[in-house]
Amino acid sequence: AFRIISCEQHGIPRNRISSGSLKVALALQQAGYSAYVVGGAVRDLLLGLKPKDYDVATNATPEEVRAVFRHSRIIGRRFRLVHVISKGEIVEVSTFRGKMADDLVETEDVQANTDATGRLLHDNVFGSQEEDVRRRDFTINALFYDPATEEILDYLDGFEDVMAKRLRIIGEPEQRYREDPVRMLRAVRLSAKLGIQIDDRTAAPIGDLAPLLLNVPPARLFDEMLKLLFSGHALAAVIDLRARGLHHGLLPMLDVILEQPLGERFISLVLKNTDERVRQDKPVSPGFLFAALLWHEVLAVWDTHLKASEKMIPALHRAMGDVLATQRSRLAIPRRHDGIIYDIWSMQPRFQARSGRKPFRLLEHPHFPAAYDFMLLRCKSGEVDQELGQWWQIFKNTDNAAREAMLLQEA
Ligand code: ATP
Ligand code: MG
Repeated sequence: AFRIISCEQHGIPRNRISSGSLKVALALQQAGYSAYVVGGAVRDLLLGLKPKDYDVATNATPEEVRAVFRHSRIIGRRFRLVHVISKGEIVEVSTFRGKMADDLVETEDVQANTDATGRLLHDNVFGSQEEDVRRRDFTINALFYDPATEEILDYLDGFEDVMAKRLRIIGEPEQRYREDPVRMLRAVRLSAKLGIQIDDRTAAPIGDLAPLLLNVPPARLFDEMLKLLFSGHALAAVIDLRARGLHHGLLPMLDVILEQPLGERFISLVLKNTDERVRQDKPVSPGFLFAALLWHEVLAVWDTHLKASEKMIPALHRAMGDVLATQRSRLAIPRRHDGIIYDIWSMQPRFQARSGRKPFRLLEHPHFPAAYDFMLLRCKSGEVDQELGQWWQIFKNTDNAAREAMLLQEA
């Protein structure tokens, strides 16, 4: 049973949805299937935000979807989806999904489909439209928009929740978090990003269930953390993660870092900076961000090695390796980011050398711009003297003759 919200009530005419997703949903309907725009896009439009991407849900199987669109391909292992290229846009089309855990409770072995903590291992059984609604995470993510009628189908009072700015999980909260602990992170991210409150019943089990995140594959945690950190509301989200005790498995040292005033200031600056860049549609790099989030841990470990009377630079390199290895055991930062992370870190002491050819060589390093921005944030946070940043700002922006003069002055 569902409620129909008319266009008059919800205020989203079909011309507000992307032309690609509109075309895909209508073409599927033309071919005799049901098809709706679903998920985050409907929610964002209702909240007056610009959707990042559009998802379409249908009763057509992936093969049937492929047969309707020439420019499409089946992707995904965990659950197969079809990417349709329409009007230069990638529209993600998924077939209605059933809720396997519940089916199996009644039939055979639930064990085969969940692990010891209740986490869903497979989620790949096709289902009815209503089943598809119920296996989604939050009520505000479970609204179905029909572009043909401009109506929203609402099975779970999600529309009311959007209007009340309330994030409510679908079904029994503890069970839904056990099935997929990442939903706890999604709750924090969506509430920060959308500026809405997590409903009390939805929030209540999170503290106790936080350790379940240790059970999630590190690569999936990384993907979800990137979404959170690049949501444009990372500072608020990280503060909330910490308040709810969810950060332990993600950034093991975050607690420690945030307890030192300098570390806290640095991370706050970095996240604020990232949020501003995301909101201005400027590029952001995971390498830079993780280099920053882990920097004060590197400093601490470096210090330990130095006290054990190692030499400056070898001690730094060892600290860098230690910190990344510890981090990797929980949240897998893909190795393709290692290069930039190591470069940013290992270039930091080189900003201190302001004589001879060294500053010129630093300037030519392919990762100089990132390392330079990083150094400016260190100055701003009070870790190093502002004067260093000011010197480099001038050195970077002037011509070679003036640079030579600056170096002479230093000597
Ligand atoms: P955004 O795209 O803004 O990050 P979103 O809600 O669209 O947010 P997606 O990851 O694109 O997030 O997921 C699309 C939809 O799939 C969601 O709106 C939700 O209905 C469903 N969904 C996503 N992740 C889960 C999950 N872990 N458990 C249940 N349903 C989920
Ligand atoms: Mg989405």
